[in-house]
Amino acid sequence: MKRFLPNLNPPSPADYDVAIIGCGVSGANIARRLSAYQIKIAVLEKAADVSFGTSKANSGILHGGFHHNKKYLKARLEIQGNLMFDQLRRELDFPFRRCGIIVAALHDDEMKAVEHLYMQGVENGALGIELCSRERLLDLEPKLSPDTAGGLYAPGGGIIEPYRFVFALVESAMKNGADLYTDFRVSAAEYREGGRWKLQSEDGRAVEARYVVNAAGLFADEVSRIFGGEEFTIKPRKGEYFLMDRLTRACPGRVVFPVPTPVSKGMLVIPTVEGTVLVGPTADPVEDKADFATTPERLEQIFDAGKTMIPSLSRNDVITSFAGLRPSLGEDFYIEPSKKAPAFVQVAGIQSPGLTASPAIGEYVKNLLKDMGLKLTEKPGWDPLVKDRPRSRELSPFELDELIARDPAWGNVVCRCENVSEAEIVQAVRLGHHTLDGVKYFTRAQMGRCQGGFCTGKIIKIIMRETGCSWNEITKHGGGSRILEAAL
Ligand SMILES: Cc1cc2nc3c(=O)[nH]c(=O)nc-3n(C[C@H](O)[C@H](O)[C@H](O)COP(=O)(O)OP(=O)(O)OC[C@H]3O[C@@H](n4cnc5c(N)ncnc54)[C@H](O)[C@@H]3O)c2cc1C
Repeated sequence: MKRFLPNLNPPSPADYDVAIIGCGVSGANIARRLSAYQIKIAVLEKAADVSFGTSKANSGILHGGFHHNKKYLKARLEIQGNLMFDQLRRELDFPFRRCGIIVAALHDDEMKAVEHLYMQGVENGALGIELCSRERLLDLEPKLSPDTAGGLYAPGGGIIEPYRFVFALVESAMKNGADLYTDFRVSAAEYREGGRWKLQSEDGRAVEARYVVNAAGLFADEVSRIFGGEEFTIKPRKGEYFLMDRLTRACPGRVVFPVPTPVSKGMLVIPTVEGTVLVGPTADPVEDKADFATTPERLEQIFDAGKTMIPSLSRNDVITSFAGLRPSLGEDFYIEPSKKAPAFVQVAGIQSPGLTASPAIGEYVKNLLKDMGLKLTEKPGWDPLVKDRPRSRELSPFELDELIARDPAWGNVVCRCENVSEAEIVQAVRLGHHTLDGVKYFTRAQMGRCQGGFCTGKIIKIIMRETGCSWNEITKHGGGSRILEAAL
């Protein structure tokens, strides 16, 4: 298959200072942070594209710093990570808005739990956190149920498009010299004389590195075992969601949480940064790390829970359902140098608030590697910026006309639901997103009301034209996920 980015899947064996296993939001932040130094970095990802693990299916919330006690590393990294997002947004141009978070108590007897969250937030240093009366809360969020008893407001909370964040981090890291290997499932490792790891993929490719970071999400336990590291078991915990069309009249202005349960933050109503609404997630332990099924019973439960907070939610607005798996491992993140495997850093058990904490995880792991002996000298020409890319949907007619004059593909709307032009699809493919899901997460084409019913065929033809691949090489998300039985 033809490859598009100059340093995507470079020839192996290659020699690196650091190899990062897994390119979700943790691996991507670590790679980007390390790319500021004069070291060689390899990012090894088993999927066909980045952000195809837990980082693609979550609530997309920038948490507000009040849900966890500061005795936990995750609470401290959540606060730090949250504060890093404004600068990251300026540098990397991903969809992000600080819309604030509300926790709504539906009965007076829930107010005690809200007060506890408030005190925890204050102790953690969550900026601007406020304990609210019923009136104040309804003023902040008029779509809330009038039965609300009161609650909490955290103005520092927000919403982001998680995959666009990862794509931008990876683009930035690669621009600054990091190499990305996709379809590279690390399946064997050997520590060699001279203090280097040799890592091998299932298909026989190999890289060498002095240090290895295990950021393999749900599979961090298996990766640890491959390296002779600590024995632990990641237990998946499933979260199911409903997605509502942006035409819904039930879109709140802020993220609305219920009072948390002992195992999860509860089922929420989330206005996404793209104008749609998410309702969920559930929190159910599952055995299978590939179990992404949604069930009518759970979805019913989600809907009922959402409606108690935002009564105007309507089933008519539901576009689709999906599920994500939390890589659960005890109460806290497990980010430490391995005590068993040399030059090996564990970044495991990164469940919520992993997305929020991820920029701080990047900083934390950089410091761990430095303490382990990795020499870090700043790179003189490090460029933190990635290109600001226009999106048809956000442009004025005049701005769009200017782009069409330069490239008529801006005038060819491929996805009508999300208003995505051919030019944007081409851009995604040329950046290396050559599966249907990769194009979807980069452009939002196939994410609207018709869920790709009208545009999938057109997108396949554009991918074929741009990549030189034949119809039977186009997949939904890599591997064997081919979708055509016959040529279009
Ligand atoms: C339902 C749900 C809701 C959530 N909501 C939020 C939220 O609103 N806010 C928030 O802050 N956090 C949230 N989280 C948590 C957040 O999504 C995770 O903490 C984060 O995405 C974890 O990122 P990661 O990079 O550690 O793991 P992943 O994204 O899973 O990345 C790991 C990568 O490693 C790759 N990999 C695995 N094995 C190998 C191998 N052998 N070789 C090479 N590559 C390999 C995988 O393919 C994968 O791409 C939520 C999580 C869930 C499930």
